Amino acid sequence: MVLAAAGVREWKMEQERAAALSGAQTAVLAETLTETEAESLPQIRTEAESQPQQLQEKKKIALTFDDGPHPYYTDQLLDGLAERGVKATFFLLGCNIEGNEEVVRRIAEEGHLIGNHTWYHVDITTLSQEEACAEIQNTSRKITEITGQPVEYVRPPFGNWDKELECEVMMIPIFWSVDTLDWSTRNADRLVDQVVSEAEENDIILMHDSYDSTVKAALRIVDLLQAEGYEFVTADELILE
Ligand SMILES: [Zn+2]
Repeated sequence: MVLAAAGVREWKMEQERAAALSGAQTAVLAETLTETEAESLPQIRTEAESQPQQLQEKKKIALTFDDGPHPYYTDQLLDGLAERGVKATFFLLGCNIEGNEEVVRRIAEEGHLIGNHTWYHVDITTLSQEEACAEIQNTSRKITEITGQPVEYVRPPFGNWDKELECEVMMIPIFWSVDTLDWSTRNADRLVDQVVSEAEENDIILMHDSYDSTVKAALRIVDLLQAEGYEFVTADELILE
């Protein structure tokens, strides 16, 4: 019994020593952590302050231009977009391509997205399936001949799309969330005010690269929205999210 009691006492002391030791170790560890944290915190803050844009996901927005290519204004627009490093989307009319092949090639080479806007700007829901498919397929074929790239997206004129339409190649329709009515106002200042005040994250903005006022407005819109932290992307990025 005595031996056993002595054994228990010894065991208890052992436990107490161990506890005291681990307590001391914990204290040392805590001190080390505190020092490390105290040193690293200001560094983290400095990095966050110097690179706020890398750490924050930018708000995305897309500019889309219908009814081109235009022999003069599309090139002007491309110059301005290139200077700003901005990509946009162009929905081309088949009937406007002849004579403007270089413009089409340039749109593709500079990394913009090209979509189909039918051959003659028709409301495809008023056509037979055969006529509707010809409008779309002839336009896609023409674009691909020039760019070497397949055309996957269509913007149906007037926003009228027939979901049941089954052509050789299925197309993905891209609509819009902001209609600028630039063809009717033809006023750059009003366009800029309208788009900058209405614009929200993930908006797809509808414009036409057929007017001087639209080209001027579009480039000012890019400058103003980039300053607000927007990133301009091609429209496919916004519909696939
Ligand atoms: Zn149109």
